[in-house]
Amino acid sequence: MVLEKYRQKRNFASTPEPAGDIALASARARQARRREGLFFCVQKHLASHLHYDFRLEHDGVLLSWAVPKGPSLDPKTKRLAMQTEDHPLEYGTFEGVIPEGYGAGIVMLWDQGTWRPEVPDVAAALKKGDLKFTLDGYKLKGSWVLVRTGGRYAANAAADGRSWLLIKHRDDWAGDVDITTFAPRSVMSEGDFEDILAADRPDVWISNRPAKGGEAGAMLAKIIARAAAIKSGTAAPPDDVAVTRRRADSSRRSAAGASERDTVAGSRSSKGPARGRARTGTAPPSAGRKPARGPAARKSGGR
Ligand code: MN
Repeated sequence: MVLEKYRQKRNFASTPEPAGDIALASARARQARRREGLFFCVQKHLASHLHYDFRLEHDGVLLSWAVPKGPSLDPKTKRLAMQTEDHPLEYGTFEGVIPEGYGAGIVMLWDQGTWRPEVPDVAAALKKGDLKFTLDGYKLKGSWVLVRTGGRYAANAAADGRSWLLIKHRDDWAGDVDITTFAPRSVMSEGDFEDILAADRPDVWISNRPAKGGEAGAMLAKIIARAAAIKSGTAAPPDDVAVTRRRADSSRRSAAGASERDTVAGSRSSKGPARGRARTGTAPPSAGRKPARGPAARKSGGR
């Protein structure tokens, strides 16, 4: 059944993620044949580990791969992409906080746009384990390929066949800029993880954090502290070098009048995603480059 695995893994009473509309999925699968571009997105997901969920619309659902290091614009850098369960189309514009359970953590809409297969038959390409395609997102563009690893028969092995590589083809959109570092923020809210958390419930993980140890745990601890600071209207914690500098500047200027610290905190929190928008997943603000429309824009009303 469509989206069966997706639904099995989640308790929709406790997660803000969309349950997925099966009728919408089949309607979109039919429409897709008449439309030019199919939807794609990349969601940056800080859960037990940081990863980037790469999703391509196909047959009314979002084919999904978890890319631990995120996409690379360098054709020499092949990025591991573990195929995960198909997601509903409505998931494509989801951004927010998963308080507990499967995937608990923070989801950011890191990129979105349209994709076009470079092959006549996507189903056959997936079966073969070699899908070439073109992306037209805010951050990712040009020609790419997903190649299944593990040899010709890996697709038939019970547990395997989920392991792919995401590779940029050499074209005008390739380069050596580290896109995950260069453009770390949301294309929907323009916020970072702490802004998304601050717009939701910064106190949600006081008792039980989804990531405690390691890199993800340290990252999450900082984000929680920053989110709490944004929410309470104070500046970020003192370990943030940029903010420490801003504070120093602000105290130098405070003799001249208004506190810059307040201005900084105020503008940061106003940039954060509104709770309602993050939950319902309406279309993103047009960045003046390419109005990428999310699938959920056609049908909101779910949460
Ligand atoms: Mn994920």
